Amino acid sequence: MPPEATASPQALDILHEVFGYSAFRGPQQAIVAHVIAGGDALVLMPTGGGKSLCYQVPAIARQRAGQGVTIVVSPLIALMHDQVGALHEAGVEAAFLNSTLTAEESSQLERRLLRAELTLLYAAPERINTPRMRGLLASLHERGLLSLFAIDEAHCVSQWGHDFRPEYRSLSLLHEEFPGVPRVALTATADALTRQDMIERLQLQEAEQFISSFDRPNIRYRLVEKTDPMKQLLRFIESEHEGEAGIVYCQSRRRVEEVAEQLQAAGLEALAYHAGLESSLRQQRQDRFLREDGIVIVATIAFGMGIDKPDVRFVAHLDMPKNIEGYYQETGRAGRDGLAANAWMAYGLQDVVNQRRMIDTSEVASEEFKQVMRGKLDALLTLAESTSCRRVSLLAYFGEASQPCMNCDNCLTPPAVWDGTEAARKLLSCIYRVQQASGLSFGAGHLMDILRGKSTEKVLQHGHHQLSTFGIGADLSEAQWRSVLRQLIARNMVRVDTEAFNTLALLPDAKALLRGEGELLLREQPTVRSSSRRREGKTSTRGLAEASLNAGALERLQRLKAWRAEVARQHNRPAYVIFHDATLRAIAERQPQQLQDLEDISGMGAKKLEAYGAEVLRVCAAPD
Ligand code: ADP
Ligand code: ZN
Repeated sequence: MPPEATASPQALDILHEVFGYSAFRGPQQAIVAHVIAGGDALVLMPTGGGKSLCYQVPAIARQRAGQGVTIVVSPLIALMHDQVGALHEAGVEAAFLNSTLTAEESSQLERRLLRAELTLLYAAPERINTPRMRGLLASLHERGLLSLFAIDEAHCVSQWGHDFRPEYRSLSLLHEEFPGVPRVALTATADALTRQDMIERLQLQEAEQFISSFDRPNIRYRLVEKTDPMKQLLRFIESEHEGEAGIVYCQSRRRVEEVAEQLQAAGLEALAYHAGLESSLRQQRQDRFLREDGIVIVATIAFGMGIDKPDVRFVAHLDMPKNIEGYYQETGRAGRDGLAANAWMAYGLQDVVNQRRMIDTSEVASEEFKQVMRGKLDALLTLAESTSCRRVSLLAYFGEASQPCMNCDNCLTPPAVWDGTEAARKLLSCIYRVQQASGLSFGAGHLMDILRGKSTEKVLQHGHHQLSTFGIGADLSEAQWRSVLRQLIARNMVRVDTEAFNTLALLPDAKALLRGEGELLLREQPTVRSSSRRREGKTSTRGLAEASLNAGALERLQRLKAWRAEVARQHNRPAYVIFHDATLRAIAERQPQQLQDLEDISGMGAKKLEAYGAEVLRVCAAPD
């Protein structure tokens, strides 16, 4: 057993000297101490929580103690590149081994690895699995120079997670092949099922678990009913995020292209990203998003894993994701710097139907798997329709209790609620009557026509104007009927048969409501009233980072940003790898006169002070 984790002055020194931070955040301190002491750990922390330091600080400490190299398993090449870049800026010996290297570079790197000159080596799981790599690791291990395995994005090992990667499976062998080498597995996603699977797959039963709160208090959640999605999206971006970086998620490649085009036409700097694009183009667009200011990337879920750009100010979903894990992971890419950010989603009945269809028609999935996926989709739908705090529901999904947050749409402008019980009964009995009368099932549109008493050609043709349910729902709008229907689908009372023209059928759970038991409270649909209310309580996050600076500081900040952009270009790195916005802001406020004034600025490590300190003073002092 590893010794009890205690505060380690050495870890704090590293945090201060290398990373320029004054204190560990949340459970970082305990995790770092545990891993330095040689314990295995499972770290569950939300995106932006600070997982990287949980293995980077131990890697440095253990290397300094002569324990050799830390191997970081990471799923994406692009990710490794920027992580390693950031470590270089901080003066840490780090490298990645992947297919972008030439043969010469690879073998040079292998020699450095064997001499244990590196502190951290990043590699993809498929690389770790090669006999060659295993041989190198074995050689280090024999000499006691294999220090630590860090398994990033560890949920990729589970098929219940949303980024399943079969290559992760073989990582369970690491501890058999290299006994005694501690392992730390990290992820931002884990519902109970995924978490359990991850522990079993990676054989981490003995590992200490460090579970942080999953809350991301600076993200404001908003889920709106889809009416005219493009217009809604544009209004959202233009009124709240002009000139800021964001991600717009869409379901399909085609939609990604369309939406990107429309945003461009509206004058936004928007780029499309999906797996159908050539990889060099994808790379180029991802780089622009990371490096330039204010780019909106429109993407399928192919985009984003491991994107650690800290100043993404919004994530918008134009189509509903598959489940809450996916939604939370994707929205978590906003506001990693801790400043205010928005998560905005538009959803509608069609989204529900599409997602159901994808599950139902999947040919690879077993019935058991499909059942789990349907349950997860329903949970998301319930969140979308909920009238209480979104954050409370989200956190509850991850097993965490919390209080209403005052930073979500439902808390800020509580939706009006109406009693949909009677309407639901009407809809259910209409489905029943139609089925009984015709021996056929029909889709949502037709059923609503009957309820609302519309004598369409189809209604007349089937004689449905003679049904007792014809016209009994004329008092409700079509939008209200759709809302009722979504709820009935989410509550397993109505099934959409996606293999038969999306027709509707009753499920056994509908019986109770039809008998007059139970009730159904529904969100009021957005009306003119609620949109004007939104304008009053303006939710803009724009300019927040600069809000409280005085004129002199603001001017310094602008000069510092221009200088940083230039350095980033020269180093071929994203600007935030040089300094974060928050660090520049602190410098601008401090108005430094000498190097000493910069020492305790958060994000100013020893290496950066040495490399950039004098320049920073010059930029602050004199406008060029
Ligand atoms: P995660 O991998 O959990 O999403 P990161 O490791 O990328 O998060 O950290 C998120 C941000 O928080 C980074 O910009 C990082 O530099 C910063 N950060 C992490 N730990 C600390 C700390 N103790 N003090 C200050 N900033 C921190
Ligand atoms: Zn709330």
